[in-house]
Amino acid sequence: MRQIDHFLSGGASFAPKRTSDVFNPSTGQVQAQVALGDQAVLDAAVANAQAVQPKWAAMNPQRRARVMFKFKELIEKNMQSLAEMLAAEHGKVVDDAKGDIQRGLEVVEFCAGIPHALKGEYSQGAGPGIDVYSMRQALGVGAGITPFNFPAMIPLWMAAPAIAVGNTFILKPSERDPSVPNRLAELFLEAGAPEGVLQVVHGDKEMVDAILDHPGIAAVSFVGSSDIAQYVYSRGVASGKRVQAMGGAKNHAIVMPDADLDQTVNDIMGAAYGSAGERCMALPVAVPVGEETAERLREKLIAAIDKLKVGISTDPEAQYGPVVTAIHKQKIENWIQTGVDEGAELVVDGRGFSLQGYEEGFFVGPSLFDHVTTDMSAYKEEIFGPVLQIVRAKDFEEALELPTRHQYGNGVAIFTRNGHAAREFAQRVQVGMVGINVPIPVPVSYHSFGGWKRSAFGDHNQYGMEGIRFWTKTKLVTQRWPDGGAGDSAFIIPTMG
Ligand code: NAD
Repeated sequence: MRQIDHFLSGGASFAPKRTSDVFNPSTGQVQAQVALGDQAVLDAAVANAQAVQPKWAAMNPQRRARVMFKFKELIEKNMQSLAEMLAAEHGKVVDDAKGDIQRGLEVVEFCAGIPHALKGEYSQGAGPGIDVYSMRQALGVGAGITPFNFPAMIPLWMAAPAIAVGNTFILKPSERDPSVPNRLAELFLEAGAPEGVLQVVHGDKEMVDAILDHPGIAAVSFVGSSDIAQYVYSRGVASGKRVQAMGGAKNHAIVMPDADLDQTVNDIMGAAYGSAGERCMALPVAVPVGEETAERLREKLIAAIDKLKVGISTDPEAQYGPVVTAIHKQKIENWIQTGVDEGAELVVDGRGFSLQGYEEGFFVGPSLFDHVTTDMSAYKEEIFGPVLQIVRAKDFEEALELPTRHQYGNGVAIFTRNGHAAREFAQRVQVGMVGINVPIPVPVSYHSFGGWKRSAFGDHNQYGMEGIRFWTKTKLVTQRWPDGGAGDSAFIIPTMG
């Protein structure tokens, strides 16, 4: 059985006391075992990271940018093999895996411009002979804890800006798909980074707790489910760290009566069922406005679902693959049952889906609910599977209220031809990322990613300038160069007047 070890500076190795199975979701078979690390592993990683950090931070930013540039080239060169590795552990289809890598790559690309992004501000002549300037300095050692659903993109959201600004970084990826993070760390070394700048430790709650409590780690970035995000945020902050913690989601697609319905259905299909619904920016709730829109939308969705192809992750024809584990499959199917029990109409039932030759794979067929209401727990909670729920709204105001009042506020989309309605919606909705005729509005790498409400805890969003701010502290220098005149030695509280 293949063993997946931590990726530590100098290739240091620890005999694992515990391991976790890594499955191939398409076949349902265990394909590897990943080490679950403990305090000793983390202590070694932190010591390595601390040893190299001052040197890395002192390197001029253009040289760090060159490493980023080379890293980007290596990821591009290895795109196919990385995508296959990712698909084999996650279950998403290979093309989708390439998208996962590409979105992470774009953050690396942004970080290749780090000298510009790191520039401070300067005020000349803020007082007599006084100039004021700010600089951004690295925090020291940073850590990232990431979910299973984007094993390339999310580690790169965190690691690239953290490292580009001069920190060293320890990544604790999901134990369900740990190979791509290790491979990325290998490529980063190949790109010319000194050993210890990027290390990977594997593990579960034990390792997460060790990270949150470790005095040698200055900041933690987390992405995962909301209860754990809140826990990570509270515990990390209690131990004096800077913490950003992104959580779960339940994103709505508002469909106005004037929307281009064929285009909208196409977009919703990709956003609801793509990657088996295992995306924090998926659209698992469709909100048609008005009964007529609801009827037309429902009919078109049923027809589109009928044509949807589910297959193994290497099937080039498949639109989505299996979900990540048997446990997750069971959880999704339980939610479908809960929806039925709560009185929603199950229009298409994806339970019991089986693929010939892959009967042990973790497949869930596409499911569609209609007449879902806001009091149902299946509506309130995140399902994170290929399950689309239609919640009918009588008018625009009622549609706007749904995402606004929901406990999550990650993303939302409105489909309309009416500019005024779109503008009004974008202004008033209580959600962090809004798409107007765009189903999955994941911000480009030079903006920043972050939800509202229970979708994010802490300040500062991921990547872009918010990422730079999260991974640096600002130092402000007020300087005066006395000219030797009479006022130079006055012991007064300085004012700028
Ligand atoms: P998860 O919360 O189970 O795991 C995330 C990380 O936390 C993993 O590294 C895991 O090892 C660790 N972990 C698990 N249990 C823990 C515990 N009890 N204590 C401490 N650490 C623990 O999430 P997941 O299932 O891997 O990923 C799916 C979730 O992530 C969904 O809720 C999804 O919406 C969310 N997500 C959010 C975003 C976002 O940016 N808001 C992006 C992607 C995924």
